[in-house]
Amino acid sequence: MSEIHSMPEPDQLTRFLLQEAGVRGVHVRLGPAWQDILGQSRYPRLAKRLLGEACVASALFTGHTKVDGRLSIQLRGSEPLRALFAECTAAGTLRGIAQVSEGQDAPADLRDLGDSALLAITVENPGLDPREPQRYQSLVALASAELGDAFEAYFRQSEQLPTRLLLAADDEHAAGLLLQKLPGDAGDADGWTRIGALFDTLAEPELLATSAGDLLHRLFHQQSLQVLGARDLSFACSCSRERVEAMLQSLGEEEARAAAEATGAVEVRCEFCGRQYHFPLTEFGVLFAEVPAHSPPPERLQ
Ligand SMILES: [Zn+2]
Repeated sequence: MSEIHSMPEPDQLTRFLLQEAGVRGVHVRLGPAWQDILGQSRYPRLAKRLLGEACVASALFTGHTKVDGRLSIQLRGSEPLRALFAECTAAGTLRGIAQVSEGQDAPADLRDLGDSALLAITVENPGLDPREPQRYQSLVALASAELGDAFEAYFRQSEQLPTRLLLAADDEHAAGLLLQKLPGDAGDADGWTRIGALFDTLAEPELLATSAGDLLHRLFHQQSLQVLGARDLSFACSCSRERVEAMLQSLGEEEARAAAEATGAVEVRCEFCGRQYHFPLTEFGVLFAEVPAHSPPPERLQ
């Protein structure tokens, strides 16, 4: 058993065990990393909250499932919330984005996204060939109003283990707590009920305002709390010039030239981190030189 103290680092993932009750858990609280993600775009209130909750969930799940590469949460909807994407890597870097129709906001109830909306958790681990990562995707039913409830139901069903999950986000912080009963007959008879009652005393404002150390102590200090590990999280983007080049090549030279027509260059801005990529027409010869022979021949070079 180890005593945990308040940590000054606000972007953190903490894994813990409540041995007597036979329950394992993951806690995530983001401060600066969440501010960095928010700083990339202006989001309306509900979309902001959903994005924060999705970012926290992506980090929480890397503490729950073994992830060697990256884990992402993707929501594909229609108007007004077209897409939501949050990703956490094994190295603890996070990024996220929401696409909302101009002047509108995400629905307050996820079920209002309609039958065509899709929510998925994708784990991408490096394969033997680095260019071909292994991907595992799970679809999550959008049968709850809240993102946390949708994921909670997913884990309960897919892992056949009692699970509790609370997610929250405001302008300052995004935070989440995931609890799951250990498989088999680990823990005492009323362990899960006891931990569930403690979990029910936790409301979103307290989850957002409290550090990992203080929160876990407040909830579980009488429950043989054992911290298994903690790691820092941070905002970072995995975009690169090579990736943008590959995107332009797949778009095709004709389209790229059309996009460059007005200014003599293609400007690509990464929506996750705001980084600008500049491709002047003078570089198109090299950029599209290795395009397979059956592609349309290059047009005039300026
Ligand atoms: Zn980027």
